[in-house]
Amino acid sequence: MEFDILYFAPGLPSHGEKARAAFNGDALFVNGRRVEISLTEVGVTLGGFNHDQLFLFWHQEEGRFAISPADANAQSLLIDSAPAPLAGLLQGARKDASRKQRRSRLGLGVLGLILLLPLLLIGLLVWKSHDIAGWAAGHISIENEQQLGELAFKQATAGMKLREGGIDAAAIQEIGARLTQGSTYAYKWYVAEDPSVNAFAVPGGYVVVNTGLIQAADSAEEVAGVLAHEVQHIERRHTLKNIVHSLGLRAALALALGDIGSGMLGDMAAQLSELRFSRDLESESDRLGLLALKQAGIAPQGMVSFFDKLRRQEGAAPPALLSTHPASEDRMQALQAMINDIGSWPAQPLPYDWTAIKAAEK
Ligand SMILES: [Zn+2]
Repeated sequence: MEFDILYFAPGLPSHGEKARAAFNGDALFVNGRRVEISLTEVGVTLGGFNHDQLFLFWHQEEGRFAISPADANAQSLLIDSAPAPLAGLLQGARKDASRKQRRSRLGLGVLGLILLLPLLLIGLLVWKSHDIAGWAAGHISIENEQQLGELAFKQATAGMKLREGGIDAAAIQEIGARLTQGSTYAYKWYVAEDPSVNAFAVPGGYVVVNTGLIQAADSAEEVAGVLAHEVQHIERRHTLKNIVHSLGLRAALALALGDIGSGMLGDMAAQLSELRFSRDLESESDRLGLLALKQAGIAPQGMVSFFDKLRRQEGAAPPALLSTHPASEDRMQALQAMINDIGSWPAQPLPYDWTAIKAAEK
């Protein structure tokens, strides 16, 4: 019964040469030639990369000789056809080999785990980063937030024409005050001379409303809906969460520990150009905004009708507010469902002549 082997002999390559071997009684034949040696003088050892490869070796005058089965099948044939005393040695060696193989597999497993650990940690951080950002944002002191907000407000409004005076600004300040009663923030309300339909909130209590938005509204309730929503981005520290999230763990820890340098503060303020929030945060602002309207006794329909109106507005460029607040079918339906959920509440019409306010801007 012949089997494939690697043949090692003086004068052959050190990695061996392919050959065929067979036992015939007590004699070993390699490539059809009898090995001139007694099989009791043949030793068995394990070698190879994992020390799991069987070697039969013997010594002759020319030097050391060895054969090694080429594969698992050859190994079985070698052991099955070997004469009795040698077969016993080979079986013992095969057991050793499989034990060593198991151990080396285990070793590779542990090694693999050690190499994978950093990757797993990074994965965990990415997976949980919103939670970590949320936690860190929740631990920022009001003082730090105000510092950051002041800087961010200056950056965000650089080059804008802001004012706090005028009947439009006065109306916004009054509606805003109703929507933020009992808040920890000292709100500041501004009107920006800007025809684009937009409004935005900056951490620490800054709210800016463009004249374009005031012009696009048909009632104070519509503006109140936008304000109620924007205020929640401040109250719920959504911007801080965004900043912490995009600046990473270093910022999260620095903020939570109150160890915040001016360089990092600047980095964070710069992140404010990214005013987009996740869908979850937007929907949280919608829901809490509606509750704020309820608490202030302001009718909620303005919030829905305003976004719905912007959505249906035809024209080349969509209003800026919609780029950060998509008035999708989903969102409109969710808003209406929230209103139905909360139930109706008594509301007095807001005491502003919106047509007159719009006219005063021109
Ligand atoms: Zn929003």
